[in-house]
Amino acid sequence: MNIIIFGPPGAGKGTQSQLIVKKFKYFQVSTGDLLRNEIQENTDLGNEISSIISRGEFVTDDIVNNLLKKIIKNNIYKNKIIFDGYPRNITQAKNLDKLLGDSDQTIGLIIFLNIKRGEVEKRIRTRITCMKCNKIFNELIDKNEISDHLCGSKYLSKRTDDESGIIIKRYDTYMENTKPVLDYYSSNSNFVEIDGSLKIEEISSKIEDIIKV
Ligand code: AMP
Repeated sequence: MNIIIFGPPGAGKGTQSQLIVKKFKYFQVSTGDLLRNEIQENTDLGNEISSIISRGEFVTDDIVNNLLKKIIKNNIYKNKIIFDGYPRNITQAKNLDKLLGDSDQTIGLIIFLNIKRGEVEKRIRTRITCMKCNKIFNELIDKNEISDHLCGSKYLSKRTDDESGIIIKRYDTYMENTKPVLDYYSSNSNFVEIDGSLKIEEISSKIEDIIKV
């Protein structure tokens, strides 16, 4: 089954997706990572994406949908995808239904990680990301993992859109656009809401219990 994990920036979607990938051999498809990869390519499209992301706004549906289409059509990932950061609005949610339906796939689990803005602001202040493999660390807690990280320290940095002013804008953009997505999914029998302010291990153990059933 495919899984959707959604919630505001800083809710822990990426961290939890990485843990699910490790444990259950899923493929994490983060549209944020796909977009950042495009930026690294230094193309015209990459530059356009970069300026949108650094303003804390959403990239257009066309750009994101096109990046996603290639992945969903690839048989290697069939029914083993965890969607992280997609869909973010109703158009994307409907697009996802269509793309999955066209390739005979379904969504088996929808996880909503809910978290308040104040908590996100605190959390993001200590988040660092590997720009090569996209792994996420907390610079205060993960000191050993950071020094052992295989890509080396030169790729570790703060995302420019994690600066405090931008994170507030991202949170508000998210809430404004994603509320209808929540309404779209919440009556579904495979929808679960989890408190995103819990500890990483507490959240992952809840998710594991659900996936194992
Ligand atoms: P994330 O890594 O999920 O926090 O995403 C970082 C940024 O990429 C967001 O603030 C948006 O600007 C952009 N982005 C990621 N996913 C999407 C999406 N599904 N639709 C539109 N913009 C997106």
